Amino acid sequence: MNNKTNYQYLLSDLSSIKGVGEKTKNLLKKKNINNLLDILWKLPKSYTDRSLSLKVKDLKIGEIQTVTIVPQKYNFPRVRKLPNRVMCNDETGEIDCIFFNSYEGYIKKILPLGKEITVSGKIGYFRNKYQITNPKYISEDSSLVKQVHNKYSLTEGISEKIYNKIINQIIDNLPDFKEWHSKNIVSKFKNISWNNSIKELHKHENIGNYKSNFYQRLAFDEIFSTFLVNSEIRKKIKKIKKKNKIINKYEQNLIINKLDFSLTRDQIKTLEEINKDLGSTNKMFRLLQGDVGSGKTIVSLIAAINTINSGFQVAVMAPTEILAKQHFNLAKKIFPKNFNIDFISRKSEYKLKKEILKKLENNKIDIIFGTHAIFQKKIIFKNLGLVIIDEQHKFGVNQRKRLSDKGGINCDVLLMTATPIPRTLTMTIYGDMDISIIREKPKNRKPIKTYSKLEAKIEDVLKFIKKEIKFGNQIFWVCPLIEESKKLDHASAVKKFEYLKRKFPNQVCLLHGKTDIDEKNKILNNFLENKFKILVSTTIIEVGIDFPNANVIVIENANKFGLSQLHQLRGRVGRGNKDSSCILMFKSNLSDNAKKRIKILKDTNDGFLISEEDMKLRGYGDILGFKQSGIKNFKLADPIHNNDLFLLAEKEIRRIEKYNEDIGKFKPLIKLYDRADVINDIV
Ligand code: ADP
Ligand code: MG
Repeated sequence: MNNKTNYQYLLSDLSSIKGVGEKTKNLLKKKNINNLLDILWKLPKSYTDRSLSLKVKDLKIGEIQTVTIVPQKYNFPRVRKLPNRVMCNDETGEIDCIFFNSYEGYIKKILPLGKEITVSGKIGYFRNKYQITNPKYISEDSSLVKQVHNKYSLTEGISEKIYNKIINQIIDNLPDFKEWHSKNIVSKFKNISWNNSIKELHKHENIGNYKSNFYQRLAFDEIFSTFLVNSEIRKKIKKIKKKNKIINKYEQNLIINKLDFSLTRDQIKTLEEINKDLGSTNKMFRLLQGDVGSGKTIVSLIAAINTINSGFQVAVMAPTEILAKQHFNLAKKIFPKNFNIDFISRKSEYKLKKEILKKLENNKIDIIFGTHAIFQKKIIFKNLGLVIIDEQHKFGVNQRKRLSDKGGINCDVLLMTATPIPRTLTMTIYGDMDISIIREKPKNRKPIKTYSKLEAKIEDVLKFIKKEIKFGNQIFWVCPLIEESKKLDHASAVKKFEYLKRKFPNQVCLLHGKTDIDEKNKILNNFLENKFKILVSTTIIEVGIDFPNANVIVIENANKFGLSQLHQLRGRVGRGNKDSSCILMFKSNLSDNAKKRIKILKDTNDGFLISEEDMKLRGYGDILGFKQSGIKNFKLADPIHNNDLFLLAEKEIRRIEKYNEDIGKFKPLIKLYDRADVINDIV
């Protein structure tokens, strides 16, 4: 408690608080409260105001109120189970204090006859008389009772009184932090310090006051500390000097001209951004973000060609073998004939694998496609110049950085994701990377028609499907997501499979979470080769795989899914040039909110816009992409309501980067918000 200038005090164990015993400590631990900082971050949710003392005649039954009374008579019945009773009054009326399970001696001590005592508790009414049962706030010294007590959630088993005592002790002993922000930033929050802000937020009068300078300052600090960690990773990676690639525009255009479509403006723009990075002596660490079907693959493959033409090797990693294989096949089709292209499968024979490894080591392979198996220890590249990672949303900051390190100094990194998310979240999750965005979709795309349908009308859907199959088309059938249980999820998919099989004999296949990986690949391949017409599945069908022949997706119990997720599922069709449809099925008539959601989906096919709307409707915590990122939720900041703070933090980070300011002063800040765990070796 002496260490008043250091944040270490706040990281110390709960035993450093006076009056906290083992029991309280263990109760708090159960709620994941391990140090003083954890307590400090639990802001009060509401409060009980005991400060106002009333007369008996003005008491309100059912409410927590404070009254000053004089005990007149004890009534301690000898019959078990009957409570002890102290009859009290003031000049306006009578009230009883009732005690279950309390000793007479104790009662006599706290309620001595003839003395003025202040009591606070919930007012009851029994046999025409007011009463207070087992009052906890009771004293001759009225100032000890007439207080406002904050209510904190997560304090089960710990009394309000003790918790308030703990928190007050911590607040009284807050270290004196030196201001870490620039004058300009602090002035935006009326110069209020971090210390004062947190103190203020623990006061009952500021509960829920999200617009206050205190709240805003603390929310800003939270966003800023997250961005700062990202920025440090960026800087570290950028500092690495690499051998630059030579972009041969002539060779590049030979490929582009061979394509049977022309690139969209956004594809050209993002390719140029990537080329600039490849051609620079700073290591590239870039994210290519674009909706499903926006054409990211071709952009990345052209970047690969430029890299190979500069004498480097390229590795392309996809989440599944099928997707890796699709990329591989595309490369074989469009790459110059003199390129050595290879594919490594989990199932490749030992001999073949060994051969591939040898070739990679001797620079006999220019580009290799595969799953994360590409990054096993034993795989050594002679001269790796670029790694392309497709659809790895689950890659957290740490994994990304490790990957970048593993590639070696000359290795540029390009990540691709088809999960459009709101900008505030992009800054949060991918702030360590440079970002290229493809918004515009290829022009030949026909919009996917989106319908909603009651489950009772399933016959209509079957009729529709029958017609589509007759035209040679294929159908995805997504079974409802049952959040409570994976088992039920699985069971419902199996049931639907049996049902559809009866309607469409020999035309239906099934995929669910329990299907093993080889079996899954087989099923997907069969579907891809049009051996089955309907693929029934839970939500596990991956993004990215091109099923040009599938043009209908049926999604059951659609209101269980978020908008972004529905949009992503819908994106699995509509890649070819056929008319395609998405049928959203519902168990019962739609609520107004559900109607609103469906309207958004029907009105637009812009994943970025949909994700913004989704976030407004459901909050940011559930947004696809954020959920998968593994980033901890914010304690205070809110990507919807604090948009301005996110922008301000970004601007300030860029300023600090530009002037190469020393960031040592921010160390306490990063500790206070526990952001350092995002990456270990930052400060
Ligand atoms: P995603 O961004 O989801 O990875 P893909 O790269 O798989 O999208 O592209 C989806 C489909 O669109 C592919 O069949 C691809 O050949 C095609 N495509 C890509 N760019 C264009 C374009 N500019 N014009 C027309 N079709 C394109
Ligand atoms: Mg893709």
